[in-house]
Amino acid sequence: KKEHIRKPEWLKIKLNTNENYTDLKKLMREKNLHTVCEEARCPNIHECWGERRTATFMILGDTCTRACRFCAVKTGLPTELDLAEPERVADSVALMNLKHVVVTAVARDDQKDGGSGVFAETIRAIRRKNPFATVEVLPSDMGGEYENIKRLMDAEPDILNHNIETVRRMTPRVRARAKYDRSLELLRRAKEMYPEIPTKSSIMLGVGETWDEILETMDDLRANQVDIMSIGQYLQPTKKHLDVQKYYTPKEFKQLFEIAMSKGFSHCQSGPLVRSSYHADEQVNAAAKE
Ligand code: SF4
Ligand code: SF4
Repeated sequence: KKEHIRKPEWLKIKLNTNENYTDLKKLMREKNLHTVCEEARCPNIHECWGERRTATFMILGDTCTRACRFCAVKTGLPTELDLAEPERVADSVALMNLKHVVVTAVARDDQKDGGSGVFAETIRAIRRKNPFATVEVLPSDMGGEYENIKRLMDAEPDILNHNIETVRRMTPRVRARAKYDRSLELLRRAKEMYPEIPTKSSIMLGVGETWDEILETMDDLRANQVDIMSIGQYLQPTKKHLDVQKYYTPKEFKQLFEIAMSKGFSHCQSGPLVRSSYHADEQVNAAAKE
């Protein structure tokens, strides 16, 4: 029998639910929308929805054509594209009074455009109804097709975020069907298309990577002009998912933050509970001022 390492104290947090948050959950069900905040049982949901007024929507359905071993999203044959989804997301952004919206999506390998059409339309719909909200997109690699990346970038998100998720060596074990170099290429191409749009990528630690490999990933991201990096702790969503190999200490996260900044990232969030979309509102505001 495999032994599980115990969760350290700094990760034992209680979910704080206030009224505001319950109302928002109800709204999501009414609008038939999915958020990563809920589906990934993100520990920051209270802070993000309640105080920071930010949320991460997951569009293009709730069923992914891939099955990454760290991810709690269900896998299977997805439904038809829902063409009314962009408007429903935009309406909810208005009702939730969000200041910063992150839009991510399941991987739609069944669609030639990788879902980029609905994705771009979602950005435009949010902008029409919420001219003051900033929009960050977090797409899959959309098959690595130039046209798909272009279609998405042409809607001009405030931040293009695409997660490398883990170091090169661990990629085949951790991410189904994704490729380390294809992710780097997406980030590079997005930057070439719209140099003024900040690019961002996240890595989760604790799946078996070494310290040096983390630094190599930072170098790879910088070599492809990525501006912002997030570093967080991987937490196992259910027992069926990848085991946690290591819990990094807050001190180690701080060290990684300093290393990342010395390598030239303009921003870095690094901490046990940092998620791709955590405190993203600060990054976009700071990036806009530069
Ligand atoms: Fe949602 Fe991201 Fe905030 Fe978690 S960190 S609650 S996923 S917006
Ligand atoms: Fe989860 Fe994204 Fe992997 Fe699909 S592609 S299983 S949504 S991480």
